[in-house]
Amino acid sequence: MTTHRYDVVVVGGGIAGLSAAVSAAGVGARVGLLDRASEAETGGNTRYTEAYLRMRSTDEPAEGFTDALVDDFMGHPDPGLTADAVLDRDRRSPLLRAHHVVDLDYVEAFADNAGPTLRWLESHGIAFAQLPTLFPTVSTTRLAPVGGGLALVETLGKRARDLGVDFHFETTARSLVVDPAGRVAGLHAADHSGAAVHFVGAVVLASGGYQGNPEMMARYHGDKALTCRPVARGGNYNKGEGIEMALALGAATAGNFALFHAEPVDPRSGDPEAAIMAFPYGVLVNEQGERFVDEARGPVDAWYERTTRDIQDQPHGIAWLVLDASASAVPTIRTAIRTVEPPVSGATVAQLAERIGVDAQALEGTVAAYNAACPEGEWDPTRPDGLATTGLTPPKCNWAKPIEVAPFEAYPVIAANVFTFGGLKVDATSRVVDRDGRTIAGLYAAGEMTGLYYSNYTGSTSVLRGATFGKIAGAHAASLVAAEG
Ligand SMILES: Cc1cc2nc3c(=O)[nH]c(=O)nc-3n(C[C@H](O)[C@H](O)[C@H](O)COP(=O)(O)OP(=O)(O)OC[C@H]3O[C@@H](n4cnc5c(N)ncnc54)[C@H](O)[C@@H]3O)c2cc1C
Repeated sequence: MTTHRYDVVVVGGGIAGLSAAVSAAGVGARVGLLDRASEAETGGNTRYTEAYLRMRSTDEPAEGFTDALVDDFMGHPDPGLTADAVLDRDRRSPLLRAHHVVDLDYVEAFADNAGPTLRWLESHGIAFAQLPTLFPTVSTTRLAPVGGGLALVETLGKRARDLGVDFHFETTARSLVVDPAGRVAGLHAADHSGAAVHFVGAVVLASGGYQGNPEMMARYHGDKALTCRPVARGGNYNKGEGIEMALALGAATAGNFALFHAEPVDPRSGDPEAAIMAFPYGVLVNEQGERFVDEARGPVDAWYERTTRDIQDQPHGIAWLVLDASASAVPTIRTAIRTVEPPVSGATVAQLAERIGVDAQALEGTVAAYNAACPEGEWDPTRPDGLATTGLTPPKCNWAKPIEVAPFEAYPVIAANVFTFGGLKVDATSRVVDRDGRTIAGLYAAGEMTGLYYSNYTGSTSVLRGATFGKIAGAHAASLVAAEG
C-alpha cells in the first residue's frame, strides 16, 4: 500500500480545504490535499458559486451578522445547560460542550475573523467587489470575489502549489486512522484505480455536505430527497464521507439534519443554479392550479429559501410561477430568472393552463380570485411596496398586481439542494468536538460539513465560513505539529 506522510492532510479542494492547505503550508507545514474529483472538476460547490459574502466592506461583516446567525437557532435549549455558556470553555459541562445548539464562541470567532480572512485572501491574489446579485430586492449587503468561486479555486490552488502542497486528485477519503492515544493520525483513502492509499498526518476534513448521497439524503430528509437535486454539478461530489468518518469516532453534531439550503430552480435546466427568483411578481401555483404561499413576504434574498420549502411541500415537489406580460416592467427580471429555458406561454390563462398540464378552470379561478384581491396603489418592484391583497388566502403582502396582460407565462420551479445543514460540531478553532465535549486530537473540520444553520440559511455566509474556519483549521493543525517538533 502507498503511504504519503505529511504534517497536515486536507480532505477536499473547495474553499474550506484550499484555505486550510494554504494556511498550513504558509507557516511551513508539509501539506497533502486529496480530492475525489479530477483536477478539471475539483472544488465541489465552490467551483460553481458566485460566492457572495455577507460583508459590508472587506473588513466589516454586514449589519446584524452575528444576530442573524444566532437567531437562526429556533429551538428551545435547556437553560439549565446553557447557563454554563458564560464560563470559559474548559469549565463548561461536557453536556454543553457537545450540545446540539448554536455555539456563541464559534459565531463570535466567525464575525471577528471574517474581515481578516478576506484581507488574507487578498494577499493571495483574490480581489473583492460589490457585484450585482440575482436578487431583485435585498435585505443585507454583500461582497463577492471577482471571478466567483472558480477564481477562489484557481487562485488558491495555484498559491497552494507554490507553497509546496501536494495535490492527490481522484483520491477519496474513506476512514480515519486513530493512534493508541486516541489521536487522529491520518486516513485511509482509495485512489483513481481503487487501490488503498494511506495518508499520515493531522487531518482537516473539508469534504462538503452529503447532498450528493441519495442514501443519506433519504435517511435525513425522507421523501423530500426524491424531488430535489444538487443545485450544481459540484454538489454531486459531496457524499458525506467526511461527516460519517468523524461520526464513527464519536463526533458531536451541529446544524439541523432535517433541512438543507434550498433554492428555487427550473428543473428543465442542466445549468448550475438555474434560479428563478421572480416569484414575488406573479403567483406560484401547484399542479392543482392552487396558490399555496404568500409569494411576497419581504426582500427576495431573505425569503427565497422559505418559499422554496413551501414549493417542495407541494405534490411532486413542483410549482409553476405564473407571470403576465407586465412582469417585463421589473428592471431586474432578466437577472432574477436565470434559467435559459424559455417559459411556457399562452394567449389566455386557460391556454397556459392547458400547456402546463394544470386544470384550466382551476387556474382561471385562482388568477381571478387573486386579481380581485389586488388593491389600487403604486407598485414598486424595487422594494417591498406594501401593496397587499385583501381577503385572500394565502395573502400576498407586497407587489400584489393583477395578472391580466397577455401573453401569460409560466416557469416550473423545484427545490434545489445547495448544501445540507447537518454536520459536525467544531469549536472556534475548528477542532472537532466529540459527544463528551472533548476535542478530538488531530481532527479538524471546516466548511459545509460543519453544522451551523438550523432554520433558515443566513445568506452569503457559507463560502465565508469555509474560508474563515479553513484558514483557522490549517493554522491550528500546523501549529500543533510545530509545537511537537
Ligand atoms: C451554484 C451555487 C451558488 C452558491 N452561492 C453561494 C453564495 O453566493 N454565497 C455563499 O456563501 N455560498 C454559496 N453557495 C454555497 C457554497 O458555495 C458552498 O457551501 C461552499 O463553497 C462549500 O465549500 P466547502 O469547501 O465546504 O465544500 P466544497 O466547495 O463543496 O468542496 C468539497 C470538496 O470535497 C471533495 N470531496 C468530497 N468528498 C470527498 C472525499 N470523501 N474524499 C476526498 N474529497 C472529497 C469534493 O470533490 C469537493 O472538491 C453556493 C453553492 C452553489 C453550488
